[in-house]
Amino acid sequence: MTNIFALAIHGGAGTILRSTMTKELQTQYEQGLKDALSAGYTILEKKGNSVDAVAAAVMCLEDNPLFNAGKGAVFNNIGKHEMDAAIMNGKTLEAGAVCGISTVKNPVLLAKTTMLYSGHVMLAGSGAEEFALSQNLQFENDAYFYTQQRYDQWQEALVENKVQLDHTEKKMGTVGAVALDCFGNLAAATSTGGMTNKKFGRIGDSPVIGAGTYANNATCAVSCTGHGELFIRLVVAYDISCLMEYKGLSLKEACDLVVYNKLVAINGEGGLIAIDKAGNIELSFNSEGMYRASIDINGNSIIKIYKD
Ligand code: ASP
Repeated sequence: MTNIFALAIHGGAGTILRSTMTKELQTQYEQGLKDALSAGYTILEKKGNSVDAVAAAVMCLEDNPLFNAGKGAVFNNIGKHEMDAAIMNGKTLEAGAVCGISTVKNPVLLAKTTMLYSGHVMLAGSGAEEFALSQNLQFENDAYFYTQQRYDQWQEALVENKVQLDHTEKKMGTVGAVALDCFGNLAAATSTGGMTNKKFGRIGDSPVIGAGTYANNATCAVSCTGHGELFIRLVVAYDISCLMEYKGLSLKEACDLVVYNKLVAINGEGGLIAIDKAGNIELSFNSEGMYRASIDINGNSIIKIYKD
């Protein structure tokens, strides 16, 4: 066991304009990030494991209606919430993911339960929900997931007939966490409502292991946010791990190459958080901003939204 542990979280990347942000709202977002950071960090401080830490941080963000995951998830093109989530254990390479679920309060908890008890990696839709029932997970009705802000965003997207990244302009989304625990183990988790006005049945990168979520003790843990289709096509999270494993790149070099070159080359707007086995943290994004926060191995914390 060591004394080295660290945590990073995100609440979505996108064109977060200062002009549409009030001071009060900014404080609320920062508080939301702070709460999630402390939910995960408390577990690491008490010598808990990285899987539990990332799950706790993500659950906290899912319960906060400001973020596009769990309560406050965006609407799809038929006015429903369809949520995706994943979690991965870097020590064992075990992973769990759920997609297209509408009734489970904490999708990341269902992803974790899937990893631990289902014998499978990914469960979809009603099958995932039936499994959640068998595991006594908490369910919520449509009213719980509804927020006026997301409804208005969907109405705007309908009028403009487009599928929107939740965090374009004043819209914010997807949440995730990566952690290194005192046992030297890495973990990653991601949870999302996806993109506003997405097609019924559309699955993004978040629950796809290797695309939006990946963890491997030999390299790094990664959680992505952004235009999911492009992240799937570039297998972003696994690509970062591969660049470290096969090419010997540092975490920073790998993240820079993928976020600022490879993604930009195909117009893949977004970002990611990543941590390596030494506890180095990267919070990289090619969008205007990314809700992000971290506590490094020296206990130094940051909470940021914009580029500076
Ligand atoms: N990556 C998510 C998706 O495409 C969206 C986001 O990060 O906001 O489903």
